[in-house]
Amino acid sequence: MMKIKKVNIPAIHDKDLEKILSDYGLYDDLIKKKLNCFNCNEIIDIENLSGFVVEDNSLNVICNNPDCLAHATSKNNESI
Ligand SMILES: [Zn+2]
Repeated sequence: MMKIKKVNIPAIHDKDLEKILSDYGLYDDLIKKKLNCFNCNEIIDIENLSGFVVEDNSLNVICNNPDCLAHATSKNNESI
């Protein structure tokens, strides 16, 4: 049995990332460090932001902790 799980979060380039965050009105919050990781509650900034989870039409951000990414992957039903 393979234990390695492919992380299904699209590679995000900085410009896309800004656009996605802007679309959801979260870009200012990111700059002001007002966003927290959906899984571990770590403060998210441009350095450790590594993914998104969309739930009930709102965007949640994920830090670069592998556990959080795994959590995000299991939550992501739709890709952005
Ligand atoms: Zn986290």
